[in-house]
Amino acid sequence: MGVHGEGRKRGLGAGVRRVGRALNALPNRDMMGLGRRLFADVRRIPGVNGVAVTFDDGPGEGLDAFLTTLDRAGVRATFFVVGEQVRAAPGRLTEIVAAGHEVGLHCDRHLHQLSLTPWAVLEDLRRAQATIEDTTGKPVRLYRPPYGCYSLASWFEAGRRGWTRVRWSRDPQDWAADATPDGIVAAVGRPEPGDIILLHDSDRYSVPGAWRRTLAALPRILDAIAAAGLTACPVGALLDQAGIGRGPWSARVGFTPERLYRLG
Ligand SMILES: [Zn+2]
Repeated sequence: MGVHGEGRKRGLGAGVRRVGRALNALPNRDMMGLGRRLFADVRRIPGVNGVAVTFDDGPGEGLDAFLTTLDRAGVRATFFVVGEQVRAAPGRLTEIVAAGHEVGLHCDRHLHQLSLTPWAVLEDLRRAQATIEDTTGKPVRLYRPPYGCYSLASWFEAGRRGWTRVRWSRDPQDWAADATPDGIVAAVGRPEPGDIILLHDSDRYSVPGAWRRTLAALPRILDAIAAAGLTACPVGALLDQAGIGRGPWSARVGFTPERLYRLG
């Protein structure tokens, strides 16, 4: 093949890769509302009187302090854990479960899925699931991808494995370098029924010490939930209350009927 043919081949290769990348990112695209319908996940839970408190990226070194604060307030939460963090200190995940909290799957190595091949994404999910289930002895039920960003592979694999995909309705960006406890509390604001609050109990993938600011903000966030007349609880408890994540949908089928969720 001549020089021009090679050029065309390269051009074609780049085009295919571009289309592949666009397809892979599809679950995150809004596409004038269509994406949210086709790739609906749980961001807010309708018809409940509680607020879900969720922690990503751990379990890390601050875990005991978070568990103590939650215990003092009589609150149970959901921890979306990272496989490599669990393997580094499996006892921490056992502590989370022993304290009555819920465990969800975040990832194995906290890599951005759009930078990985579909096979690498599937391997990451497989390892995380094995680590979590071996440690807790319970099947994974909830899934939240790193950065809240799905790839096509993780989207369908989560459905195939029967995991309910969960993002959030309130994100105070507690991981940021300029976050402060006051700022985090203010960004959460006055919680409403069905809200899902995103927090981080580990700084492993953000700014050193970030979890200390989250920890300092946590009692006031829990107070705000109580002051709104709402109960702070794990995501799974609200899903059960709303009847979401059971039955033929969400488990085997990739697409979920939009009316089930008030997308936030
Ligand atoms: Zn994360």
